[in-house]
Amino acid sequence: MSNVFKLIETDEFEEVVYGYDKKSGLKSIVAIHNTTLGPSFGGTRMMLYENEEAALQDCLKLSRAMTYKNAAAGINFGGGKAVIIADSKKDKNEALLRAYGRFVDGLAGRFIAGVDIGTDENDMVIVHQETNHVTALPKYYGGAGSTSGATAYGVYQGIKKASEIVFGSDNLANKTVSIQGAGNIGSRLAEYLSKEGVQIYITDIDEESLKKVKQKINVEIVNPEDIYDLDVDIFAPCALGGVLNDQTIPKLKCKLVAGSANNQLEDVKKHSQMLKDEGIVYGVDYILSAGGVINNSQQYNSYGYNKEAAYKKVASIGDNIKKVIKIAKNNDVTTYDAAKIFANERLRMSNNLNKWYLKKERGIKV
Ligand code: NAD
Repeated sequence: MSNVFKLIETDEFEEVVYGYDKKSGLKSIVAIHNTTLGPSFGGTRMMLYENEEAALQDCLKLSRAMTYKNAAAGINFGGGKAVIIADSKKDKNEALLRAYGRFVDGLAGRFIAGVDIGTDENDMVIVHQETNHVTALPKYYGGAGSTSGATAYGVYQGIKKASEIVFGSDNLANKTVSIQGAGNIGSRLAEYLSKEGVQIYITDIDEESLKKVKQKINVEIVNPEDIYDLDVDIFAPCALGGVLNDQTIPKLKCKLVAGSANNQLEDVKKHSQMLKDEGIVYGVDYILSAGGVINNSQQYNSYGYNKEAAYKKVASIGDNIKKVIKIAKNNDVTTYDAAKIFANERLRMSNNLNKWYLKKERGIKV
């Protein structure tokens, strides 16, 4: 078992909390990385891990990533993440989820739970029975509902604004875009792009998903193994992680990579540099896929969730990616490094803010 304090120190985590409940079988870890911008906010991943060490490592990695994702997204939330070590298909039940809700409630708002692999908005309704520090609630509970619509809209806005720099215009008419994955995000992205007159090539390993898209819009279906070879303007990975690697990057003919898939770069340093060297602009995954967290975070506005306001905020992903591309150009660094600079700048700004208002927040009369 690793030295947890050493891990906390190395990546400057604020706290790592273990929640255990014998009766329900809950085994959960919440890692709070950084709350400079606000309470930590991240998903709840429910899955079986090889061992507890693997669960901890995953939780820490995801929590740290949320700090940068939330900071760059312009929302007032820090980075955190929860894992529940359980099989979401077999072990999930009311007792387990309520025990998790109590665990989260005990953190007194320092962590706000959302959904991730193995959990969904219906689970959050149960978690909500024990705590208010939960997001991704269905619309009928005053929440933002599923994240997919907002995520796809954010990627679409990101593609448009990045195109201003890469192609000199945000007019996508007659542009060619290849989309990998016709699932929740890929199919919605295809619909947005289709309305702009984009010529779309799409692939999936699931015939049914492709059929559904083809019934709605005009797309050309291609084989999964051919998606990297197409002569297109933009490649949108919306399926798997690790798809930008030694084998695929040399095949790409596009000028812009912009999709929703998490962790697209197999090796972040090496492959972001490789894309830069090839003259391909990489629209950093966590900048473009932030629509879901932005949308869900709007549940915490003083006026509650409002779709119009939330989508306006989601659209700011377009400006964020433009800023990142400009930072990369001005400093001759990869867009991946530029995104880190961009996120860190917001953390630094917040650290430098006058903290007078905190007195009020802590209940001290001013
Ligand atoms: P999804 O499961 O609905 O769709 C993914 C699709 O990819 C599926 O249809 C699947 O069959 C297909 N696929 C799998 N392997 C493939 C392959 N080798 N080639 C082509 N297609 C393949 O998932 P989603 O919600 O659309 O999310 C897509 C990506 O975006 C994922 O990486 C996800 O982690 C990321 N993401 C999603 C959200 C969200 O709000 N849903 C938010 C942030 C990031």
